[in-house]
Amino acid sequence: MAWYKKLHWQIIVGLVLGVVFGIFAAASGWSGFTSDWIAPFGTIFINLLKLIAVPLILVSLVTGVASLSDLKKLSRIGGKTIGIYMATTVVALIIGLAIVNIMRPGDTVPPEMRTQLEETYAQEAQDRAGSALAAVEERGPLQPIVDIVPENFFGSASSNRNMLQVVFFAIFLGIGMLMIPKAQAKILYDVFEAANDLVIKLVEIIMLMAPIGVFALMADTITSIAGDNLADIVELLAALGYYCIAVLLGLVIHMGITYSAMLKFLTPFSIKEFAQKIIPVQLVAFSTSSSGATLPVTMEIAENELGVSEEVSSFVLPLGATINMDGTGLYQAVAAVFIAQTLGMGLDLAAQLTIVFTAVLASIGTAAVPSAGIVMLVIILESVGVPSAGIALILGVDRILDMCRTVTNVSGDLTVATVVAASENALNAKAA
Ligand code: ASP
Repeated sequence: MAWYKKLHWQIIVGLVLGVVFGIFAAASGWSGFTSDWIAPFGTIFINLLKLIAVPLILVSLVTGVASLSDLKKLSRIGGKTIGIYMATTVVALIIGLAIVNIMRPGDTVPPEMRTQLEETYAQEAQDRAGSALAAVEERGPLQPIVDIVPENFFGSASSNRNMLQVVFFAIFLGIGMLMIPKAQAKILYDVFEAANDLVIKLVEIIMLMAPIGVFALMADTITSIAGDNLADIVELLAALGYYCIAVLLGLVIHMGITYSAMLKFLTPFSIKEFAQKIIPVQLVAFSTSSSGATLPVTMEIAENELGVSEEVSSFVLPLGATINMDGTGLYQAVAAVFIAQTLGMGLDLAAQLTIVFTAVLASIGTAAVPSAGIVMLVIILESVGVPSAGIALILGVDRILDMCRTVTNVSGDLTVATVVAASENALNAKAA
């Protein structure tokens, strides 16, 4: 798959040029031109990825499950996967809490800046907090489980927010295929397998557009954050820079220590080799801010570059894109405590443990789309008695942090997929 290596450089060039163009456009008042003539190419790229995500999950998971020799293997892989996902999220949250308590970024925001941020983002914060809380209030304790089971497959397939329902349906279908007579199952299996090859080809075609898509997404992100006034963003970063550094440091530590240790001790990969292979996934995650949209690329790289068997990748990765969000959890821990610090509220140990508990649950329910993490943050803030209007303080820099935490989210999914594959002897030695 040498073409991926070439593509990897093309995507990097697209990203760098997009940033340079975005800064230039913001500085020369070209935001309107960028959103009219450049941004649509980014939207087309994301739409194509989303378009293929549901068919990809469906066909690859059905073939993955239906090719298992027995159901015990499915429950073993499932148990292992969910256990590791939860454990890494807890570690991420602990890292986030440790950093925010040591660095105390909330103490560095000048009071006048705090008032200004609260005023500027008050309406947006109120809208987001309002809809998040309304959604939670109507929910009973078992609602998250109920939500996994769709009443209509096409309903779930039509929204990228319901990927877990598609995962459920695909597993259900695959299990059914294991239980019907072999001759009939074989016909269906062949159809799904052919469809799987087709979908993989379509992903490869879509990826040819990645350099242009990434260029457009980056240019648009920069001009929409900065508008036509670059000075605003510099001022914002001056006030919230320390908070951003705390989040970024946490993400780097989690990837550099937690994931690296898992790779070193539990897989045959060297950290350098693994990091190089997953760069295209990280670049697409960074520019789309969506682990869901990145999923087709994640699966391609896992199977073709890392050598994870389809049986493992088709199960572990769609599940990871929906329930495993270490970057998001870490960011939520830092953000919650940062907001409390800025508002002059102390959070004791019990409150911080509540953050861990709520954030682990929230990361399961967080949709793999841009900005989903900040909606869940509202629920975490409420659980520890911090006013949810406080998200106004961090909204201005949320997009950039969203891009970075999505990189961690997809890197975590790939690390766990590789670890699970290694433990199941399902790593293709040639690729690895
Ligand atoms: N954008 C993130 C993702 O898709 C979720 C979030 O933290 O907002 O992984």
